[in-house]
Formats: sequence, structure tokens, C-alpha cells
Amino acid sequence: MSVTTERESELLASVPTGLLIGGQWRPAAAGGTFDVEDPSTGKTLLTIADAGPEDGAAALDAAAAAQESWARTAPRERGEILRRAFELVTERADDFALLMTLEMGKPLTEARGEVTYGAEFLRWFSEEAVRAFGRYSVSPDGKSRLLVNKKPVGPCLLITPWNFPLAMATRKIAPAVAAGCTMVLKPANLTPLTSSLFAAVMQEAGLPDGVLNVVHTRDAGGVTGPLIKDERLRKLSFTGSTPVGRSLLEAAAGNVLRTSMELGGNAPFVVFEDADLDAAVTGAMLAKLRNMGEACTAANRFIVHESVAEEFGRKFAAKMADMPTGRGTEDETKVGPLIDGKSRDKVHDLVSDALGNGATAVIGGAPVDGPGYFYQPTVLTGVAAGSRILKEEIFGPVAPIVTFSTEDEAVRLANDTEYGLVAYVFTKDLNRGLRMGERLETGMLGLNAGVVSNAAAPFGGVKQSGLGREGGLEGIEEYLYTQYIGIADPYTDSPVG
Ligand code: NAD
Repeated sequence: MSVTTERESELLASVPTGLLIGGQWRPAAAGGTFDVEDPSTGKTLLTIADAGPEDGAAALDAAAAAQESWARTAPRERGEILRRAFELVTERADDFALLMTLEMGKPLTEARGEVTYGAEFLRWFSEEAVRAFGRYSVSPDGKSRLLVNKKPVGPCLLITPWNFPLAMATRKIAPAVAAGCTMVLKPANLTPLTSSLFAAVMQEAGLPDGVLNVVHTRDAGGVTGPLIKDERLRKLSFTGSTPVGRSLLEAAAGNVLRTSMELGGNAPFVVFEDADLDAAVTGAMLAKLRNMGEACTAANRFIVHESVAEEFGRKFAAKMADMPTGRGTEDETKVGPLIDGKSRDKVHDLVSDALGNGATAVIGGAPVDGPGYFYQPTVLTGVAAGSRILKEEIFGPVAPIVTFSTEDEAVRLANDTEYGLVAYVFTKDLNRGLRMGERLETGMLGLNAGVVSNAAAPFGGVKQSGLGREGGLEGIEEYLYTQYIGIADPYTDSPVG
């Protein structure tokens, strides 16, 4: 066992290991289980229920049965449940942080940051729950009245990734609760424990049975496929990779589901010649190393003006070299393990391809020996156009640097990707920064900022990075549909027409 402290054992013992269906934690109908491992040691943390299609169907039965009364629950009551959940998650911040570090690997300080970020969606949508306004108006010809109403879309299937186990769940669950939708949550099987602890907190906060159902499974397609075809399901919200998102969109088309797709990224990080280079390096560290680089928002390509590339590269490499890898629970750890061996091998393939094409590893460039799936923080210069690392999501602590000489060239390089989630631009020229906002094909832009995530902001991408927005004023709209009621002219007794 990788459990090294009593505190860790106690916490793990408090995590429900079943499936949550209709308010009851229960084993999988067929009795299946799977192990959840600690990526810093490769050892088992806990064994949990492994749902089959019959469990998925039972979860949707429960969500469908709860939908009508949940939609009628007063918006204030839905908001109060979210507010209580915010308080409970905040009170138990250390538990959530430790659990994420154990099952996902990120350092504890980063895990605490995710708890704050993830909890903020609960608070934000507790406030939005009472603001799903419609409107009433007189038709242009004066002969009728138009009542426009916002209604919950109905039962939702929420599928989440492993990289932010709490925040990716609250970013969907909180607006769905606020809007009055019931849910089946299918968390990533690499990091199911945080979702289970969070679901237990939602129960404690007073969420009625059946509103949130949680199915863990190693057979994601087998369990969610039939749900996506079920006419009682009304929405699919997915966060994950672009290839899986594409196949889910195809499946969702068969049932004409509302969809939200938060998919992959390949963020350009553009440093102009007039940038404050120290600020740019600080931003680069955040944009690259947050979550060991395993973030959809991670800077994937550093596009630096040729006149400052040497200085930027030197300062950036010095900071990257000062980032010890280790188990996330250790105080000195700044960079945790990657999620599994497959991910680490992929990162190394991309680095090897770049080196083979003539790049230089200023620091790093190799996996770390020993147990766990660690990779050295790496800075690559002289990366040749056409190298795979510039095209594919790296999802690791590796920073390839390329140079440019004109703004047009920077724009061309930045937009040269199928993705369009986020971009970062560092410049002291505000006009240039705003112009880059207009010229870059991106859903989000960090202007002299290495982090854009904020519960009050609409998060999401364009191109192959997805559809829809999470957070902000837009987030709840994804869980509401617009209904229009035509009303006869109240000054006459004759019907409209
Ligand atoms: P993934 O696509 O492999 O898996 C995501 C989820 O989908 C998991 O729960 C998985 O079990 C499930 N899944 C996989 N195949 C499925 C299928 N056939 N049917 C139904 N469900 C299926 O992605 P991942 O490796 O867990 O996460 C990393 C990816 O997520 C990266 O591409 C990253 O950029 C992306 N991501 C995007 C955002 C965003 O907001 N845009 C946020 C976080 C992560």
C-alpha cells in the first residue's frame, strides 16, 4: 500500500466506495470493482465499484424520476443547497486537497488551489440560481404578448476528466443544480475518489435523492452509450479529449441532445519584444507547470520574439530547473507525477521527436527513474516546424520555444493549430494586446496573465476545442432552454391572429 500516514488512511476510509444511485451508495449490480492507484507510487489506494450498463440505466432511472419535483423546487432552495455545499467543501478543503493529491498526483498547494477554484463554482451558481430571468413584451403589431421563460433542460449526463477531479465536476454540477436539472455523473476512472467525496458532501448539503447520481466505471463507452441513446436524457456535458468528444457528439446527434464540449487545447504563449520579461517568465511558469502541464489550458508552444528569445529562454529554464519532482504530499515537491505510464511515454515520444528534428534540451528531456510516473521539467529550443510537439497536446512539464520576427508571423504561428481554447500574450502595448485578442482564434486570452480560470468568467474554446461555455453568466444557460408562450391581446376577447 502507498498509504504512508494515519491521516491518509483515515481520509481514504471516509470515501464512499460504491455507486450513488437514487440517494443510496451501492455496489455494482454485477459485483465488479476496480483499483484506484497513486500515480506517485503506482500502488493501490482504494478499490471501488465498477458499474456496468445496468447500473448506468438505474442511475438514469433515478435522475428521470427526480426531475419533475427538482425542477419545481424553489430556485432559492437550490441556491441554498449550493451555498451549503460551498461551506462544506471549504471546511473540508484539506481533505479534498489531500485526496486529489493522492489519486491524481498534483502537489498539495496546487490541490488546495483547485479546492478554492472548484468551490467557487458552488458559490457563484448559488447566486445565479435565482437569476434565470425570462421576459414579457408586447408584440410589434400590438396584437399579442410574448412571454419568454427559462426552463431546466432535464436529465443530464456529465462526463469528466482526471486532471481537475473536483473543479471539472463542480463546473458542471453547480450550474445544473442551479438550473433545476438532475444528473448522472461519470467521473474519470483514474480519479473517482474526489467525485465520491464531493457527492457525499452534496447529500450532506441537502440535495434530494436522485438529483445527482454517480457511476464509476472502467467501461465508459459501454455504460454511457445506452444513456446517450435514451430519450429521457436531454443533455450531454463532456470535458475531455477532442477525439472522444467528437465521437460523443456523433452519438449525441442520434438523440438530438443539447451538448457542451470542453475539449483539448494547444495554447500559444506569445512574448513580444516589449514584454516585461520577468512577468512573462512568471506567467510562463504558471501556464506551463500548473498541474504538471496536465491542463487543457497549459501553454503548449512558446512563441517568442527573436530579440528576447535568448534572455527569456535562459530565465525560464533557470526557474524550470528549480522545480523538484516528488510525491505531492512532500513539502518540497513542486512537480508531481504524470497520471500514468502511458501519459509519461507519450510526453517522452514528443520530446524525442523534437530532439530528433534538431531541437536542444536546455534542461530536462527524460523521464525520472524510480517508482511513479515522473518526467523532468524540460525546456526545448530550436524546435523545428513540423515537430509533433508543436501540433499535439503535450500534457506534461515540457516547454518548446520557437521564435518570430513580426506580429503577422506570431499570429500565423499561434493560429496554426486545430485547437482554439486559450492563448497567452505578453506585451506592454495595450493596443497590440487588444489587437491580438481580435486576431487570435481562441475562446480565451490571458493578456499579461498566465492563468485565465475564474468561476465568474465564461470558460471554453473554439475550433476543435469545443462548444459551449462553463462558468460566468453563460454557464447556467447551458442547462436551460428557452420556452415562449404567445398570449392573446389582453385588451380584446378575440384570440391572436
Ligand atoms: P478522455 O477523453 O480520455 O476522458 C475524459 C472522460 O471521458 C473520462 O471520464 C473517460 O472515462 C471518458 N470516456 C473516454 N472514452 C469514452 C467513451 N467512448 N464514451 C464515454 N466516455 C468516455 O480525457 P482525459 O485523458 O480524461 O482528460 C484529458 C483531456 O481533457 C485533455 O485533452 C484535456 O485538454 C481535456 N480537458 C479539457 C478541458 C476543457 O475545459 N476544455 C478541461 C480539462 C481537460
